[in-house]
Amino acid sequence: MTTHPSPLASVLDTVGETPLVSVHAAPDDVPVYAKLESFNPGASIKDRIGKYMLEQMLAEGTLSPGGTVIEPTAGNTGIGIAVAAGQLDVNAVFVVPERFSVEKQQLMRALGAKVINTPTEDGMGGAIDRAHELAAELDDAVVPQQFQNPLNAEAHYETTTPEIYEALNGEVGALVAGCGTAGTLMGMARYGREADEDTYVVAVEPEGSLYSTLQGSDAEEAEYKTEGIGTHDPSTNELFDVELVDDIVQVPDRDTHAEMQRLAREEGHLVASSSAANSLVAQQVARDIRDGDIDVPFDSVVTVFPDSSERYLSKGVYKSYEEWDG
Ligand code: PMP
Repeated sequence: MTTHPSPLASVLDTVGETPLVSVHAAPDDVPVYAKLESFNPGASIKDRIGKYMLEQMLAEGTLSPGGTVIEPTAGNTGIGIAVAAGQLDVNAVFVVPERFSVEKQQLMRALGAKVINTPTEDGMGGAIDRAHELAAELDDAVVPQQFQNPLNAEAHYETTTPEIYEALNGEVGALVAGCGTAGTLMGMARYGREADEDTYVVAVEPEGSLYSTLQGSDAEEAEYKTEGIGTHDPSTNELFDVELVDDIVQVPDRDTHAEMQRLAREEGHLVASSSAANSLVAQQVARDIRDGDIDVPFDSVVTVFPDSSERYLSKGVYKSYEEWDG
């Protein structure tokens, strides 16, 4: 008889333990696996850090029940924090530059959070400044700041990566992930290098992003459509540790767009652009392992599919490349 999981106490218990699925386009002898993070309740990998950061801050006393978290974020992190805040008796406020996705702001509000808009021309810097001003005005308010907060990477060290290693009996050769805050990749890399110091670690960014300059590339800054990964100024990121990264690979938007269509059509994955970029690089790393160009402890590659394409349908992700409004 099949056994089914017992009922859970709250939606927070459904964060994590996401499926790990083979990517069919990988070469025969070096499997590629992707962790499907849209299975989380807020439909992205950021539910993990929302839950983890809030629970840790409550345990450490940097945040009290009834207190407020204020995060400058336009995206999945806001939704992840809002899901957790609602269940942990914490108020959530997000400071979002005006031009950012209306859908995501609606979801944050639906989850009970307050959204404050700042002028588009002030950029993310304006949102960060406003978040700190608001926190100073309140008695019990903290700004988790995912770009600087070690708890962000720790969430992936403590949850995402152990799940991967357990599913594969520890037989992981290479870890691949796109970097926004780099929390995902840093948590994975630290865990992987502790398991075996030869674990190969690859960061993914869109062409036009500048993380690869940290390894001395002469990459040039440009706008890109791929969402959730990349940076125009690596110095604003305090988590990315270049010592933990073997390679930083750039993916052109056009290739990412084609892979997003292929993943849906051929493999049934309704995933967004950062997943497609990860998929392409993971497949390349698998071919390099097969060809003997990279030495790894085990012939396997693992990546993450951070969120779903449904969140970006209004941006035309399944229209032609030219019509995709990233
Ligand atoms: N993909 C998507 C869709 C994201 O929202 C993010 C977070 N900005 C990432 C990838 C990158 O994750 P991280 O911030 O952990 O580097």
